Amino acid sequence: MSFASLGLSAPILEAVAEKGYETPSPIQAQAIPAILDGKDVMAAAQTGTGKTAGFTLPLLELLSKGPRAKSNQARALVLTPTRELAAQVSESVTLYGKNLPLNSTVVFGGVKINPQMMKLRQGVDVLVATPGRLLDLYNQRAVRFDHLEVLILDEADRMLDMGFIHDIKKILAVLPKKRQNLMFSATFSGEIRTLAKGLVNDPVEISVSPRNTTATTVEQWICTVDKNQKPAVLTKLILDNDWQQVLVFTRTKHGANRLTKQLDAQGINAAAIHGNKSQGARTKALAEFKSGKVRVLVATDIAARGLDIDQLPQVVNFELPNVPEDYIHRIGRTGRAGATGQAVSLVSEDETKQLFDIERLTKALLTRKLIEGFKPVHDVPESRLNQRAHSPKKPKKPRVGHRDGQRSGENARGHQPRASR
Ligand code: AMP
Repeated sequence: MSFASLGLSAPILEAVAEKGYETPSPIQAQAIPAILDGKDVMAAAQTGTGKTAGFTLPLLELLSKGPRAKSNQARALVLTPTRELAAQVSESVTLYGKNLPLNSTVVFGGVKINPQMMKLRQGVDVLVATPGRLLDLYNQRAVRFDHLEVLILDEADRMLDMGFIHDIKKILAVLPKKRQNLMFSATFSGEIRTLAKGLVNDPVEISVSPRNTTATTVEQWICTVDKNQKPAVLTKLILDNDWQQVLVFTRTKHGANRLTKQLDAQGINAAAIHGNKSQGARTKALAEFKSGKVRVLVATDIAARGLDIDQLPQVVNFELPNVPEDYIHRIGRTGRAGATGQAVSLVSEDETKQLFDIERLTKALLTRKLIEGFKPVHDVPESRLNQRAHSPKKPKKPRVGHRDGQRSGENARGHQPRASR
């Protein structure tokens, strides 16, 4: 299948070809014709599936056919949970729309509002925004939606996690009733379905499995280690394996700062990216990481959400996330668009519960490796594959015995179910 066969016209096809994409990804193959057809779409797809181009390309195609935006009006609105994701979506809009006479802008909090107001004055065909700043701008009459044609909610699940539901409802209330709605979410929980009910009409439902993608392209393993040895183990892994571009996840902002300093002290160039950093510092850190100037980017989950870094070879969980679904999101940063990646988790004994929750969710035991010289004093109990359904509301106490004789580590592989998801 080619992009041309999906119904996109020459200016967009040229921009896509220049970016080097040859075939549409599964989400693109399904979403592009539906969106061009004017349908509402509800898609279960996370970062790494090509979802951004999946909605941006047909959006630009549709907009290129209508009248240009009037002053202070927006014709299409893309809502994202984070500033980074907003900036990345906006970059994609600019890139794919470079041969079209359309304009776009991005607005988010943490930076001055005046330049954003100035840009909106002439009207924009595509406005990419985070919810809070958009409402500020709307309340100050800097933007109107009388001619809005398309609304896109990107990473809707994350928006709910981050408490944006009230802002989203306020925004929906000021949009024209007749419009096309596109909703993207990594998962479709009950909460998301409730939101969708009041939003999309008779939607085309699309689902691409992120786990299939990761299973084939990401090598995952864990390294059991004492908590206080984690910085030393990370340093050893980076230096011994000569990893040049590593995204490291920590649970807290403070932890991210501390680790960055520790790595820097070992001569490994590192930068932190989290909610307490100014927008300028975050953009700079990401740019330097992409260019190779910064070797290790240390991030918290929220800051890392949606980061688009091409073909990231290496992800390290310095700490396991509390929510097992975040593990899937984190390793979704590696091995994108067919490239292989490696996801390594440093797990200390106090994280046993988180490890077992992840193994239960992914229905597979993670291979364990010991790093020479760092055998933990307090080891993580053996894993055993618990086939009961994962239930985030009532986590069961992990059972650490091995009554059925199944053991983890070197001989666990034989017990893994086939990658049928
Ligand atoms: P996304 O899921 O939108 O964050 O995209 C993930 C990555 O895949 C980005 O780095 C895109 O540049 C890349 N990508 C998107 N569509 C394609 C495609 N059809 N072929 C190859 N790479 C793609």
